[in-house]
Amino acid sequence: MADQSLVKKVKALISIRVVFITLLLGSFFLLQVGYRSFPYPRATSNLIVALYSLTIIYSFLIDRIKTYFNFAYFQIFMDVAAVNILIYLTGGIESWFSFIMLLAVMSASAVLNRKAGYVIATFSSILYGVMIDLQYYKLLPIKYDPALNEKDFLYNIFVHIAAFYMMAFLSGYLSSRLEKTTIALEQTDSDLKELSLFNKELIESIPSGIFTTDVDGSILIFNKAAEDITGITRENAFNLKITAIFPFISFDSGELSGVERTEGVITHNREGSRIINLTISPHMDVNGRKTGFTGIFHDITMLKKMEMDIKHKEKWAAIGELSANIAHEIRNPLASLKGAIEMLREDRAAKEQKKRLTEIALKEMERLNGIITDFLMYSTPRAAELSAFDLNLVLDDTLELLKNTASARNNISITKDFDGPLFVNADRQKMYQVFLNLGMNALEAMPDGGELSVSAMRTGSSFEVVFKDTGIGIRQKNIEKIFYPFFTTKDEGTGLGLAIAYRMIEEHKGKINVISNPGEGTVFKVIIPDGNGKS
Ligand code: ADP
Ligand code: MG
Repeated sequence: MADQSLVKKVKALISIRVVFITLLLGSFFLLQVGYRSFPYPRATSNLIVALYSLTIIYSFLIDRIKTYFNFAYFQIFMDVAAVNILIYLTGGIESWFSFIMLLAVMSASAVLNRKAGYVIATFSSILYGVMIDLQYYKLLPIKYDPALNEKDFLYNIFVHIAAFYMMAFLSGYLSSRLEKTTIALEQTDSDLKELSLFNKELIESIPSGIFTTDVDGSILIFNKAAEDITGITRENAFNLKITAIFPFISFDSGELSGVERTEGVITHNREGSRIINLTISPHMDVNGRKTGFTGIFHDITMLKKMEMDIKHKEKWAAIGELSANIAHEIRNPLASLKGAIEMLREDRAAKEQKKRLTEIALKEMERLNGIITDFLMYSTPRAAELSAFDLNLVLDDTLELLKNTASARNNISITKDFDGPLFVNADRQKMYQVFLNLGMNALEAMPDGGELSVSAMRTGSSFEVVFKDTGIGIRQKNIEKIFYPFFTTKDEGTGLGLAIAYRMIEEHKGKINVISNPGEGTVFKVIIPDGNGKS
C-alpha cells in the first residue's frame, strides 16, 4: 500500500509545478518582459510546452504508479534538468532563473526526505557548475557580457552551490521537524480519541445513573443506567430539566454550590415509585465559573425495604425478649403466692403459721404490684412536667429516705457535698426517682457497710450529680447491660431501676455515665443540661 501522505505530496508537487510554470513563465511572455533579451524565445516556448506535456503524463501516471518515491525522485531530476535548460536558454550566468533550482532542492526535502534534498543539491551543483564552466570556455554557444572575467564565473558557481546545500540543509531540517511534530500530533490525536471512547464506554457501563446538565439544569448526558433507573429514554431526557426527572430536589442553579446528597421518590413508568439516592455537584471551568452540574444516583428501593424489614424484625425481637422477661419476673412471686394460698386452703396450719402465710401472700402481691408499677413507669412514662427548683432540696429528700434505709443496715455512712443552690428546670418527681434508684443501688451494693458520697455542682452549661459508693462494683461484662430493663444480678431485684433512671434522664436530654471497679466501688454521674427552657 502506498504511503497516503507521499501520494498527497506528489500530487501537490505536480499542481504547484503547473501553477508555477503558468504564472512565472506564462506571465513573462504575456507581459513581454525582457522578451527581446531572451536569446532563444522559440526554444523557451518549446520548453514550456514540453513541461506542460510532462505534467499531463505525470497526472496520467499518478494513479497507475506503484513506487511513488521513485516517481517523485524522477520528477525532481527532470525539474532540475528543465531548469538548467531554461537557464541555458536564458543566458547561462546571466539568466534570471537560476533561483528556481533552489525550489527543486526544497521540494526534494519536502516531498521525499533530507537525503533526497542533498542528492538534488549535488545534482543541481554538478549540472549548473558544468554548464557555467562550459559557457566560460565558450564550449556552449551562450553569449555573455565580455566584462565578466574568470573570477566572476567561479564566484557565481560558488554562490550557487553554497545556496543549494544551504537550502538542502534548511528545508531538510524543517521537514524532519515537521514530520516529527506531525507524528506526535497524530499520536496525541489517537490517544485523545481512545480516551474519549474509554470515557464513553465507562459512563455507559457503570451501573450507577449518571447525568450532566448545563448551568440551567437541562440534561446533556444521560447514561444507560440512568435510563433503566428512571424509565426515561435518553432522547426524552435530553433538554428536560432535572427537576422534571427528580421532583424531590430543590434545584436552584444559583444556589447549589457544593456537593449535595438527597433522597427522594420518583415515579417509574413501569415499576411505580422508586426511592432514589442522588448526589449532585456543580462543575467548574478552569476559571472557576460554573458550567453545569453532574449527578450520580442509585435506586435504593430494595435497600430501603430490606432496612425496614430488619427494623421491624428487631422491634419484634425486642418486644419478645421484654415479654419473656416480664413473664419470668411475675412467675416467681406468683409461685410463692400460689404455695401460700394452697396451704391456707388446706386449713391444716396452726394459727401462728396462717398469719405468716398470709403475710407472705401479701408481700408477694406487693412485689407483683411493684414490678408492674415499675414496668409501667418504664414502658409508658408520663410526660415530664417541667418546673424550676433547687436540685439540692430534691437530693436532701432522697438522702433522708436513704439514711432511714441505711440505718437499718450495717455501717453505712452517707456524706454530701453540695455546691450552692442549683436551680434547674426539670421534672421534680422524676429527678427524685432517678436519685432514689441510684442511691438504693449504692446501698444494695454495700451489704457489709461502706460509704456513699453524693455531690452536686454546676459545670458550665450543665449540672452534675455524682453517686459514689465503696460497694462490690460492677463486672466489666455487665457494664453495658445494666441499663437494660430486667437486667439484675440480685435475687430480689427487678432490673428496672437503672432502665427507668436512664429513660428519665434521656427525657431531660441528659446523660448517665458509669465508672466501676469490681471490689472497689462504683461512680454514677448524672449530667443534666441547663437548657430546658427558662430557669
Ligand atoms: P436492680 O437494682 O433491680 O438489680 P437496677 O436496674 O437498679 O436493677 O440495676 C441493675 C444492675 O446493675 C444491678 O443488679 C447491679 O448488678 C448493677 N448495679 C447497679 N448499681 C450498682 C452499684 N452502685 N454497684 C454495683 N452494681 C450496681
Ligand atoms: Mg435497683
